[in-house]
Amino acid sequence: MKIIVLGGGVAGVTTAYYLARDGHEVEVVEQEDRLAGWASSGNAGLIAPGHSFAWASPAAPKMLVRSLLGAETAIRLKPRLDPELVRWGLRFLRECPSDRAQRNTLVKLRLCQYSQAQLEALAAEEAIEYGEGARGVFYLYRDARELEEGARKMRLLQDHGQDQEVLDADGCVQREPAFAPVRDRIAGAIYGKDDFSGDCERFTNALAEACKRRGVRFRLGTRVEALEAVGDHIAAVRTSGGRLRADAYVLSLGVHSPAISKTVGQQLPMYPAKGYSVTFPIRDAHEPPSHGGVDEATLVAWSSFGDRLRMSSTAEFAGYGRGWQERDFNNIMRAARELFPNAADYSAGEYRACLRPMTPDGPPILGYGRHGNLLYNTGHGHMGWTMACGTAKIAADLLQRRKPDIDLRGMEVRS
Ligand SMILES: Cc1cc2nc3c(=O)[nH]c(=O)nc-3n(C[C@H](O)[C@H](O)[C@H](O)COP(=O)(O)OP(=O)(O)OC[C@H]3O[C@@H](n4cnc5c(N)ncnc54)[C@H](O)[C@@H]3O)c2cc1C
Repeated sequence: MKIIVLGGGVAGVTTAYYLARDGHEVEVVEQEDRLAGWASSGNAGLIAPGHSFAWASPAAPKMLVRSLLGAETAIRLKPRLDPELVRWGLRFLRECPSDRAQRNTLVKLRLCQYSQAQLEALAAEEAIEYGEGARGVFYLYRDARELEEGARKMRLLQDHGQDQEVLDADGCVQREPAFAPVRDRIAGAIYGKDDFSGDCERFTNALAEACKRRGVRFRLGTRVEALEAVGDHIAAVRTSGGRLRADAYVLSLGVHSPAISKTVGQQLPMYPAKGYSVTFPIRDAHEPPSHGGVDEATLVAWSSFGDRLRMSSTAEFAGYGRGWQERDFNNIMRAARELFPNAADYSAGEYRACLRPMTPDGPPILGYGRHGNLLYNTGHGHMGWTMACGTAKIAADLLQRRKPDIDLRGMEVRS
């Protein structure tokens, strides 16, 4: 079968790989001149089922109100007259009660656990090296009471298969010597033993090479403009390089997926959550952390990829712009200096803003909508690096009419 994958981020390239492995003729259409240049290049690098908690939770509305009052919260809302944001926001609020938050968290966890295993198998099979950090991720707390509360909350994940341990400050230093200089500033951590980190952009590009060896064609610098349907069938995709035809199509355009699905009448409940990330060079005299982690006080996440330290933070609901100002990185810079005073060269950061393709409930959109030959694999939100190999393998299963390895309830196409 000839299949066109729309989008050359981690979701699109992993999908192309599994499809090619099944023997399909695959072409990837990407508007940029390189792969994984959007969200897939700016993420924190965590491959972390232990980070599966749905953002729509009982705590979220309070945080949004505080952000509207001017506080520097991790989730921020920039009020604007945007019907798309209002619609998305109301659905987000509907998902905040604890029963829904728990259900959505467990859907994400199931997918993340599956995906992590797929990623490791694939990386081993194709001998892909992608700057993996040490195994184990720190969910770090500065306050003892919050650590206790965090440990209580994490039990949900432990009850569903995550191997985690609560560490006090000395336990943290023992596992991660980079915390030694700040031992007195931290209360402890929940240590996710199975979580780890790696460079998503590097992985995606290395995987693209493996795809090419299997015959996948990458059509870069080509913008998807619209889909064309005849009844419940997609007949072609209109691009800046002309009309392209295939037997089936996979939509993985990150935050632009809804704009393109709308051209054939399919609404997708997604909105961009802007995040900021900085990548610092690590030089000889530096002592970087070898494990990834999240500072639960500021929700700044970090990973080191060999000679670079990546730190990222913030979810800003403010439209599709990807611009940034220096002050947008204040909380990252503060956390970097407070937690890792000598981990990297903080004067030489590479700054970036990226858009997470967020669904209001959290799980991605995976499966068929109203067109029998258009598969959706998009909306991975804040966990797309962790989820990508899993959703790609499932997309290939669905296209091959094979039963996926996990239950897909909660990930269906929603409008
Ligand atoms: C700050 C930040 C931190 C994050 N941290 C983590 C983390 O630690 N762990 C984790 O698992 N996930 C993390 N994520 C989430 C993860 O990065 C995303 O979920 C993932 O990259 C989404 O991949 P994607 O391929 O769907 O989208 P993208 O990477 O955005 O790719 C979409 C691609 O489609 C192309 N495209 C768009 N429109 C068109 C068009 N019309 N025509 C042709 N091509 C088009 C784009 O150019 C792009 O290459 C983070 C995200 C951010 C922003």
